[in-house]
Amino acid sequence: MTTNGVPVPAERARAAEQVAAVLAPGRRVALTTHVNADGDGVGSEVALWHLLTARGLRAAIANPTPIPERFHFLVPAGADRSERAAREIEAADVVVVLDISELSRLGDLARAITQSHAVACIDHHVSQGSLPGGPRLVAPEAAATAELVFDLATALDWPIGSEAARALYVGILTDTGAFRFANTTPRALRVAGALLERGVNPESIYESVYASAPEGRVRLMVEVLETLVVERERGLAWVTVPPDALQRHHATADDLDGIVEYPRSIAGVRLALLFRQLANGRVKVSFRSLGDVDVAELAHRFGGGGHKKAAGASLDGTLAAAQEQVLAAAREYLNGR
Ligand code: AMP
Ligand code: MN
Ligand code: MN
Repeated sequence: MTTNGVPVPAERARAAEQVAAVLAPGRRVALTTHVNADGDGVGSEVALWHLLTARGLRAAIANPTPIPERFHFLVPAGADRSERAAREIEAADVVVVLDISELSRLGDLARAITQSHAVACIDHHVSQGSLPGGPRLVAPEAAATAELVFDLATALDWPIGSEAARALYVGILTDTGAFRFANTTPRALRVAGALLERGVNPESIYESVYASAPEGRVRLMVEVLETLVVERERGLAWVTVPPDALQRHHATADDLDGIVEYPRSIAGVRLALLFRQLANGRVKVSFRSLGDVDVAELAHRFGGGGHKKAAGASLDGTLAAAQEQVLAAAREYLNGR
């Protein structure tokens, strides 16, 4: 159980055995993650795709929304069948849901997943989850879902090749904000170290993930940061994506990743928010905090969730109305502490 140099807690090893029990060679498996996949969602499913393919399973990635351009370098040719995701899920013997435990975050795939034969889940969110029953390797204290996929492979003695290692490294790198956030545990760094020992090149990954931006991403950031409002006395700051800005800059939601770190980076700010009008008429809010501000709790009040220091929700109504509601709750929350 310590073949990768990092011991796997007994509880995770047991959960890994249960997940592996539905992943017999020959089976057809669909791998999926939450809408607007991030580095952890993509990294975890790509790594699992390699692990399962090497074991003789027929695996396909079937996501509710396209994989962002910046992670395409990880995806093996032919592995991503998200264009026909619902059909992949219907045809699969097993669905593995990664980096989310909520049906509501699986977009249009929720129905197909509810009707699946078997649904396994590997995740590190706090939420109880609303997926159909099935084996679960869920640990909120894990830095990233990629850490749990590493544990799965370690517990089962499945060799992690260099391609899988690279994908897992991207998951841990991106979910810890490049090893800066509170989830940068000693263990997360040990796992990252074990992955480097498998030949991962951190500089080349940095370049692919963070230094290959289209110009529009930077121009979009300029516009969003222009909207910054700071309520210094409360420790609250927020930015708003101008409604047509993504289109004008040929950008996607992925290009907004990290912008909310700027309002959070202001001295004295304990709670930072990013507001964005979604194409479906709803309003997406990203919550980030420092110290003891629990944004999972705040986001939960609006039907969302996430982690203590990074959470999200999507609300009905206009951008202005959603903003008013969330800001009122945020001010009240901050005034109380
Ligand atoms: P984001 O603000 O989209 O970067 O998300 C921050 C964290 O909150 C991630 O762990 C997300 O998975 C989670 N999250 C984002 N949006 C939602 C939502 N609508 N419902 C539940 N969790 C969410
Ligand atoms: Mn995620
Ligand atoms: Mn994650």
